[in-house]
This record gives sequence, structure tokens and C-alpha cells, in this order.
Amino acid sequence: MISKETISLVRDRTDIVAVISETVPSLKKRGRRFLGLCPFHKEKTPSFNVNADTGLYHCFGCKESGDAIRFLEKIEGYAFAEAVRALAERAGIPIEEERGAAPTEAERHKRERAALYAAMQMAATWYEEQLVEHPLAPMAIAELGRRELTPADAAVKDFRVGYAPAGWEGLAAFLKKQGVSPAVGESVGLLVPRSSGSGYYDRFRHRLMFAVADAQGRVVAFSGRALPPPPGEDEQRDAPRDPPPKYINSPESPIYVKGATLFGLWQARHAIRQEDRAILVEGNFDVVSLHARGVTNVVAPLGTAFTIDQAKLLYRYTRNLTLLFDGDTAGRKAVTAALEPSEQVELDAEVAVLPNGTDPDEFVRSKASAGTGGAEALKHLMGQARGVREYLLDVEFDVAFNPTNSRELSARIDRVCDIIAGEKDPFRRTMLKARADDALGRLDLVRFARDAIEPARRKFALAARTGRVSVGPRPYEARVRPRPPGQEERKAIVGAILEFPELLDDSSVRGDLELLEGDAARIVAAVAKCTRVTASGEKRLDVTELLAQMNPAIQAFASARLAAPALETLDEARLLVAANSKKLRETTVAQENRDAVREQHRVVGDWEAEVELVKQAEALSLGRHGLSPR
Ligand SMILES: [Zn+2]
Repeated sequence: MISKETISLVRDRTDIVAVISETVPSLKKRGRRFLGLCPFHKEKTPSFNVNADTGLYHCFGCKESGDAIRFLEKIEGYAFAEAVRALAERAGIPIEEERGAAPTEAERHKRERAALYAAMQMAATWYEEQLVEHPLAPMAIAELGRRELTPADAAVKDFRVGYAPAGWEGLAAFLKKQGVSPAVGESVGLLVPRSSGSGYYDRFRHRLMFAVADAQGRVVAFSGRALPPPPGEDEQRDAPRDPPPKYINSPESPIYVKGATLFGLWQARHAIRQEDRAILVEGNFDVVSLHARGVTNVVAPLGTAFTIDQAKLLYRYTRNLTLLFDGDTAGRKAVTAALEPSEQVELDAEVAVLPNGTDPDEFVRSKASAGTGGAEALKHLMGQARGVREYLLDVEFDVAFNPTNSRELSARIDRVCDIIAGEKDPFRRTMLKARADDALGRLDLVRFARDAIEPARRKFALAARTGRVSVGPRPYEARVRPRPPGQEERKAIVGAILEFPELLDDSSVRGDLELLEGDAARIVAAVAKCTRVTASGEKRLDVTELLAQMNPAIQAFASARLAAPALETLDEARLLVAANSKKLRETTVAQENRDAVREQHRVVGDWEAEVELVKQAEALSLGRHGLSPR
């Protein structure tokens, strides 16, 4: 805990203009305030104001505002106390922590973590030194050279690239000399206890090392890339061994959660904010070498699929994400995996596809040597990026498959329907549907689909006529509508009406009743029929009669609601009906979009039916935007 007095002292002594100028170089004095380009949103005309007198900043563009502490929280991802400490250090204010007689649990915890950070920091420096001094370091430098990088490059220094020497105890001995306890080394995953029970050895041996920084720039982990075996090593072995894994990463530790850390975010943070976009690539090396080519808003997940926590981390800096992967299976998988985290966090994600088998760095270098300017070529590629769902849809249609295989075709159509239905934005959904329709037409899948479905249908119709099966929904339809969508919403509406029958007098509620069907519609009809007007003019529901009219299944639901109402007021009920009707309309639209894709391939060739479908789709779209009654 930092005392209130210290916090206000820090606020008073902080020169907010100096603090912000470091991130906003465009900040200029204008009258009594300072004006510059906002670091929180993209703009060409300055609307970011800083007032040295009040110690506050405010942006008229994005409405972001606060004091210096908040600025550091937002811009560096600091926690409140971290921001206060950073400012206190600048202003030369000793931090007075409020404390009791004994150190608190939190303080001990903090001191332990400080020891872990310090050990990582020492290791990073030592690896960097080894890259210069160690006799085998040229092998690591050669690996950098394959990417046209040298230890002198600024990017290589920024990422604290180093060399973990061959041998078992280099780092262990160094840490010991520095007074770092082996338990600390083990806790951050630098050292591994010997199975013999005495002593520790280095986890990273003969590897090119990348330091992984957290959002505050502290080294929290390492990622070590394998190098060719050192000379003489091969002859010592009788039996050939498996090659070592290409990358070894630090295990998770009290200061490192891999799913919540992004490689390169610390180095990329200002560029991400300036470009208002982050680029996600697969590997650490891609991040470093793209930095060296001047593309600096790049990050990579650390050997995992993109996670929600990583998406949240990026969201602090931008809402726009470009996934830069190649078009092979692994790349497609990575895109698929990134869809959900991005959408959950509301990052607007796009996919830019590299030529097959090319990594981003190769792409940039090959274009650079072809004289077209590597970074420019990458920009061009990114300009052609598609939305993630567009990309996934295209993959379903582009990748070679056998469309005469009805099972595969049907699985693909199902996936396409899911991709379309999963899009929440109605306009984008419409665009996706149009894209799917185009692709279906282009590939002549329609013909294949019809061929695949028609025989099954005819067979079924015949069987039904000859009495061998009961006539129910045809199997094709049954698969299209496995169960009525929107059941929950209908239940909520009906429940509200059961509790407040007077809702049926409300004209807006009446308009929503057309959305009900089946049992839900039946209950509402019964409620209307069983409502009596009392002598005093009040409306009352004849509960006994109402329940008597219902079949057992819905009776249970209705009596439960009538016995234990879930809603308090008529207004609450009205809002609930409105909200659920809205959802129901959207669900219905999604279902109709699915059906439309399927319908399209059933009616192709039938011009009038196609025109009718297009009209329906148009009416749907208009209705959705409230342009004409549905
Ligand atoms: Zn702004």
C-alpha cells in the first residue's frame, strides 16, 4: 500500500507535460495548454490536450482523459501502484509504504517476485555477453546471418538476443557468483535440478536466445532456438539421437504466464498505437527480423494458439489485428484458432495470406532484394487482407476437394452455414452470404448438391408412399432445422405474458407476437382467451381454466411461472419482451440465411424461384434495418 499523502505528492511533483512528451513527441505549447496527436486513437489533426497547471490530459477525439498516473496505466499497461512508483522515481520521491510492525504477506510476495525479475535480468545480460565473447557464439551469429541480421542491429539489441553456451553449468555458475539462489533460478525455469538430487544444470544450452518481456518491459522468460550441433559433439555419440526441439521456451513461473504474454509487445507497443494496428505472426524470429526491416507493430504468441488473454492485452493498444500467416494447414489452423478470442474481445481481425511455405521475414527480404521495397510489399499484401470469416469461407471453397462426395459436400455446406451464422453484425452477415452464394455459383456446387440430395429424397418419398416409413419431415429438412432456434427467447416472452397478461394490450408487444410459434403461440392464445375483465375494470387471468387447456409439458412451465413470478414490474416485463423479440428476429435472420444458402442450390436453374429467393433476402435485409415492415 502506498499512502494517500505519497500519491498526492507524486501527482503534485510530476511534470505531466514531460511525461507525456516522451510518448507524444508532437506535443506543442498552444496558449495555456499543450496540444498534440492523441496516442490513444489515430488522428491527423491534434485534439489531445495536456494542462500543466491542473496535471490533466484530455482528448476531444476519443474522450480519453486523466492524470499522469492514468496515462501510464493506459499507455504502458501499468497497474496503479506501478504507475505511481514510476512517477515517484522520476520525481525523486521516496515511496513510503504503509506498513505494520511485521512485513505483510503482500510485501514478502513482492520481494520474492523482485528476486525473480532480477535473476531474469542478470541472465539476459549474461546471454547477451556470451553472444559476443563465447568461442561458439559464431554459430549463433551465423543463425542470425541466415536472416540477414547481425548482433549490431538495433532490432537484435532491442530484443536482447543472446547466446546460451553449450555445456551444462555456464549460467548456473554465473548466477551462483552473483549470489542468486539456485531455488530462484529453478523457479523461473533457468536451472533444472539434477535427477541425482545434488546440484543444478542450465535449461538452455547451445541456443540462440530471445528474451521475452512483459507489458512493463521486464524480462520474464526466454525462448531458445536450436543451433547446429557444436563441432566434435557428433562423434561422441554411439547411437543417433532425436534432433533437439527447434524452440525451447521457459516454463510458466510466478512471473510468467505464457497464454497472457505476447512476444514483442513491449518493443512494438508505441508502433501498434501509432499504426492503430497489430500484426500477429507465428514465430519470434519473424518478429525480430520484421522489426529490423522497419515493420515494428508486430507480435507473436509464445508457442500457443492466440488466446483471449493475449487478445485482451492487445486491446489495450488497438482494436485492429492482422493475422499474417502462410496459407498452409498450420496457418489455416492458427487463423481458425484466433477467430474466437478476437471476436470475444472485439478485436477487428483480418487475415493477410503469405505465399505458401514463406514466412513473413522471407517475404519481406525477397521483395527487398527484388528492388520493390520489402516493407512496401508487405503493406500491399496487408492491404488485401480479408476478414477472418471471409477467409475461412474462402478456404471451404478454395481447397481442393471432391464435390461429388455428398458427405464431404454436406459437411462443407454445414461449416459455411456456421461461419455465416456466427457473424453477429447483420451487414457483414449479408456480405458473407453473398460471398458464399457467389462461390457456390462459381464452383457449380449447386449441381453436385442437387445430384447428391435428390436421389435420397426420391427414395424417401417412395418409401413413404408405400407405407414403409411414417411421413414426418423429410430427412433433408430435418437436418436443416434440427430444433426450433430461439426457444429460450420464446420462453422468456411467454413467461412475461403469463405474469403480466395486460402486456397483450400493448401494441408493440402485439407486433412481437408474430414471432411466436408452436407451444409458445398456443400459450399466448390461451392467455388471451382466459383473461377476464372484473367488475372494477381490472384484467384477471382465470388460472384454472388456462392450465386446463394446456398439455402436461407446457402446463408445468406455466404453473411454475404463475406460482413463482420472475419479474417485478410491468415495465420490466415489457423490456424483457422487447429484448427477446429483438434477439429472436436476429436468430430468425441467421436461420433464414442458412436456409437461403441451401435453398439456392436446390432451385438453381429455376429462374423464377431464384428471383423469389433474392426478393426474400432483400425483404429480410430491409426488415432488419427497419426500412419496411416484415
Ligand atoms: Zn484520442
